[in-house]
Amino acid sequence: MTKRIVALAGDGIGPEIMESALAVLKAATQSTDFDYEVENELFGGSAIDATGTPLPSETLTACKQADAILLAAIGGPRWTQAEQTPEKGLLALRKALQLYANIRPIKVADSLIHLSPLKPEIVLGTDFVVVRELTSGIYFGEPRAKEVQQAYDTNRYTVEEIERIMHQAFVIARGRKKQVTSVDKANVLATSQLWREVAEQVAKEYPDITLEHQYVDSAAMKLVTNPTAFDVIVTENLFGDILSDEGSVLPGTLGVLPSASHSVAGASLYEPIHGSAPDIAGKNCANPVSMVLSVAMMMRQSFQEEGIAKRIEDACYNTMEKGILTPDLGGKATTQQMTQAIIDEVSNVA
Ligand code: ATP
Ligand code: MG
Repeated sequence: MTKRIVALAGDGIGPEIMESALAVLKAATQSTDFDYEVENELFGGSAIDATGTPLPSETLTACKQADAILLAAIGGPRWTQAEQTPEKGLLALRKALQLYANIRPIKVADSLIHLSPLKPEIVLGTDFVVVRELTSGIYFGEPRAKEVQQAYDTNRYTVEEIERIMHQAFVIARGRKKQVTSVDKANVLATSQLWREVAEQVAKEYPDITLEHQYVDSAAMKLVTNPTAFDVIVTENLFGDILSDEGSVLPGTLGVLPSASHSVAGASLYEPIHGSAPDIAGKNCANPVSMVLSVAMMMRQSFQEEGIAKRIEDACYNTMEKGILTPDLGGKATTQQMTQAIIDEVSNVA
């Protein structure tokens, strides 16, 4: 059956890197039986300009009917003051799609370890995934209030919410080094004690996977002192917010980092972790790798096309190894040159 992929190019460098990613997808699927169609929809600031709203109803309908959604980037200085902002559109989309699991793979390519803020001997071989719960925890718990002399938030997790994020982590670990690190603060927090119990329960369904528990303070240190110790990190919303941003600085550029957000029921959404980079938009120098690797994640996680996913990933890493690099990676290649090099690699190994 033909897969429906909705492409939301958005703002800033979004359209440039989306074009790259779709060109790589085309090359990577050329002589395969993966059949798909791409539907481009307005989203973000460009949608505000065209329709007055960042998430037009056609876009939302298309996303709800899609098999997978690719989002490049939204936002920019032009829309920050307005009543309607691109960010509001993104929050509304995440809510409508019930995206509860955010997956961020962090890999430091051997050829690029000199870009990392960490010492080469520490960062060499870094390759882990942060699985963050996205729709619950202290960001959403009630009651919450800011009063004059006090303020409070509520951290709440249900067994069901913990179970479903754990399953995400264990399934991802199965395709990797088979090690899950569940991060919590179980020495202090009741939510973390439940988190740990549920993690142990879910682990029984995955006897091939090793589960370890780590306190969040310790995990935060280890991410920069021994990042190669991790395979899959699974954690609640607040801890995941912090740890995934900490992890994202390890490669030395945001331009190589993809992400996935999985839904309770509908399509998953794949996007770079960076923003719309207005400072470099339209200059043909944005690194397309973050978006291309997001496409690889889509092929693996939404369509179970492991072979195609791997081919796209290898093409990105081979291109970087050959020194075809955009300025954020220390090179002089344009977006289009780097994209073409990735396409050549993908076609070579096909
Ligand atoms: P947002 O608020 O939308 O997340 P931000 O302020 O975090 O935006 P980003 O858009 O993520 O900013 O960009 C941060 C820096 O990283 C900018 O200097 C930008 O140029 C650079 N950057 C981001 N993405 C890329 C990319 N794909 N290629 C090259 N540089 C990038
Ligand atoms: Mg940002």
